[in-house]
Amino acid sequence: MKANIDVLPLNTWVETDGKPLIIAGPCSAESEEQVIETAIGIKNNGFAHILRAGVWKPRTRPGSFEGKGEEALPWLQRAKAETGLKTAVEVATPQHVELALKYGVDVLWIGARTTVNPFNVQDLADSLKGVDVPVLIKNPVNPDLALWVGAFERIAGAGINKMGAIHRGFSNAQETKYRNSPMWQIAVELKTLFPQIPLIGDPSHMAGKRAYLAELTQRAMDLNYDGLIIESHRNPDEAWSDASQQLTPNALAEMLSNIEVRKATYESDFQSELERLRQRLDNLDRELLEVLASRMAVVEQLGEYKRDHNVAVLQLDRWKAVHETRADWAKSLNLYPEVVEELFKLIHMESIRKQTEVMNQQNA
Ligand code: PEP
Ligand code: MN
Repeated sequence: MKANIDVLPLNTWVETDGKPLIIAGPCSAESEEQVIETAIGIKNNGFAHILRAGVWKPRTRPGSFEGKGEEALPWLQRAKAETGLKTAVEVATPQHVELALKYGVDVLWIGARTTVNPFNVQDLADSLKGVDVPVLIKNPVNPDLALWVGAFERIAGAGINKMGAIHRGFSNAQETKYRNSPMWQIAVELKTLFPQIPLIGDPSHMAGKRAYLAELTQRAMDLNYDGLIIESHRNPDEAWSDASQQLTPNALAEMLSNIEVRKATYESDFQSELERLRQRLDNLDRELLEVLASRMAVVEQLGEYKRDHNVAVLQLDRWKAVHETRADWAKSLNLYPEVVEELFKLIHMESIRKQTEVMNQQNA
C-alpha cells in the first residue's frame, strides 16, 4: 500500500512549541454566546492551539440537531478575533468548503461518515484544487485502512500538502465499552506506512463517555500521537450533540494536566522491527481483553435473565454447542482447535462463576 503522499510537518502551519497539537471546542456550534464563552474558557486555560466546532453535523439518524450551518461561521470568526485561536470545522460537501473558506476558517476536517465514501472525498478534493488550507482526515467509520489511505491520496491529488489523520475509532456491531472501538493497530499501521502524516487522537468520539477520556488520551500519548482533538463545551450536560462525552474547558485542562507525554519520537520508537512487532502484539492483546470484557458484560446480563426466570446456570446442550462451534471457527481461522477448546473451557468456567455470583446476589 506504499504510496507517496507529500505532507508537510505540523509546525509548518501551527506553532505548538514542540508539544502535542491540541484542538478543543464544542461538538457543535449552538449559539454565538456558547461558542465565544467556550472559546474564551479554552483560551484562558492555555492548553489549546485550535478551536473546533461542528457547523454541519452528520447525524446517524435524522431529527437530531444537524448544525446551525452558515449562520454559525461568523461566531467562529469572532471567537478567533477574541482569542487568537485558529478555527477548524468539519466539511462534507464542496459547498461547505466554499463557505468555510469564505468565512476564514483555518483548518478543515473530513468526518468519519464522509471518509467512507470515495465519491464524496473526490468531490471535496476537486473543490480544494488550488486552495492552501490544512485538511485533517478522520478514519472511516469502518476499520478499513485502505479507505483511509485512499482519502489522503485523493486530497493530496488536489495539491493539498498540509494534512493530518484523526483517529476517532470504529463503529461497533454490538455494545462495547467504548462508543467506537479504537483498534489502535490500524492507526499505528497508518503511521508506520506514512510517518510523515501527523496522527491526532480523538478520545471524545472513541469514548462516548467522559469517564473514559483520560485513559484513551493517555493511550494516544503513549503511542506518541502528534496531537489530540477533544470536545469541550461550556455546559456539557446541556450540549445539543454528544453531551455525555464533553468536558468544560476547566475540566479538560485538569484532565490534560494529569496526562504524561512521553518524549520519544516515533522514529526512535519504531527503530527496530522487533519493537514494532511487540507494540503490535500489545495492541492486539489489549483488544483481546476488551472483547473478553464485553463478553463478560453479556454473561452478566444472561445471569440476570436466568435468575429472574429461574433457569439453571449450566445447560449441557448449550455448552456442547459452544464447544463444537468454537472448535470449527478455530479451524477455519487456522488456529489449533485443541488450544481453542482449552481456552473456551477457561472462559466458560469464568462465565459460570460470574453467573453463579449474579444468581446469589438476589438470594443474598
Ligand atoms: C465530530 O467531530 O463531532 C464528529 C461528527 O465526529 P466523527 O466524524 O468522528 O463522528
Ligand atoms: Mn461530536
